[in-house]
Amino acid sequence: MMLDYRTLLISLGVSTLCLLLTILGTWMARRQDGFLLTCVVGLAFLVPGIFTYSYYTETPSPWIAVACCSLMLMGFATIYAAARQFRTGASSIGAGLQASLWAAALTALPIALGLDGLGFVSLNLAAASMLFATALEYWRAREEARGPLTGMAALYAMTGTSFVLCAAVLALGHHWVLGKAPDNWAEDLNIAVSIAGMTGIGAMSLMVHQARLTEHHRRESLTDALTGLSNRRALFEAYEKQSFSVETAVIVFDIDRFKLINDQHGHAVGDEVIRAFAEELNRCAGLTMAARLGGEEFAAVLRNAAPGYAEWLSERIRRNFADREIHVDGEVIRATVSAGVAYGREDCADFDGILRKADAALYLAKRNGRNRVELATSGSCTAARSTA
Ligand code: GH3
Ligand code: MG
Ligand code: MG
Repeated sequence: MMLDYRTLLISLGVSTLCLLLTILGTWMARRQDGFLLTCVVGLAFLVPGIFTYSYYTETPSPWIAVACCSLMLMGFATIYAAARQFRTGASSIGAGLQASLWAAALTALPIALGLDGLGFVSLNLAAASMLFATALEYWRAREEARGPLTGMAALYAMTGTSFVLCAAVLALGHHWVLGKAPDNWAEDLNIAVSIAGMTGIGAMSLMVHQARLTEHHRRESLTDALTGLSNRRALFEAYEKQSFSVETAVIVFDIDRFKLINDQHGHAVGDEVIRAFAEELNRCAGLTMAARLGGEEFAAVLRNAAPGYAEWLSERIRRNFADREIHVDGEVIRATVSAGVAYGREDCADFDGILRKADAALYLAKRNGRNRVELATSGSCTAARSTA
């Protein structure tokens, strides 16, 4: 039986080492996720802890027991710190280290006094609390990737429970003095659960990482790099399949004589003017969504707009932008913008149609002298399309 137990311990050590390498590789691919490195540090305590414990099962000595218990507790505490860092984004390795030192002291003291059984009860309870705390952190962060994070929380909680059983068997049997590694059904169960847990957690970590990367790329593909506003694709993804009632308006903006700004001050200054207008849109509270269509052209969507509201809001944006002093490299630039506004209608409910109507109104604003807002005529969508 003891031989089987050692073999299992060695496989646990090896699967922990594999998890360490997997997470290290993941961290190298994405170094801004600092919690992965914290996790690697935790596993780096755990691996020698497990192998030292395996040695202890053959050659029991109080000092080896203290060494392996301390390593394992440092490991569990750091893994908890990593989970907390995952949820909050802030490093909490100091708190984790402090907890592990306390737990190690509480375990080492009874072992040093000859009560090694009590020491193992203390080790199991400390390990269980840290694993439950880790489970709770992943559970609280589950919004980010529901399936894998719930799975990770369950695996940590399951492993924690198996440590509680180990403590319970020793305590209920009053095994306060052992002189060797504890050997009972709870220990066997604990090691099997730990191997399964370690393997499962490895797989789930990769899934969480994949979900994070996908979300990061998705967000990037929908954001305009210069202004941080939504881009054209995001705007169409959000609205192209929606129907537009009379209470929804689309506004199209185009900066006036922008080519002149570029020619007189340079492309970089032009970019600053584009950013300044994006800021103006960001600052405006009433817009449901604002996007940069490309170049110096922008669009905004307004849901639940009372009649006249979209024109009033566009006019306010236009005036604020015209009054704005844009400071670039000691120069003060001023620019103006023209806007076209179109409301949805029962017979003209598609986004593309309303956008074309707003574009036609913008064209009118340019023709009527720029630095002004025009409302689309209530003609049909097809008529507006032919004017545009
Ligand atoms: P109008 O009042 O009729 O709108 O005149 P305009 O000069 O603004 O005319 P137009 O819309 O044709 O000019 C757009 C210019 O914007 C052309 C292009 O060189 C410039 N442009 C497009 N994208 C960018 C960009 O990302 N940064 C900068 N600085 N310029 C850009
Ligand atoms: Mg333009
Ligand atoms: Mg322009």
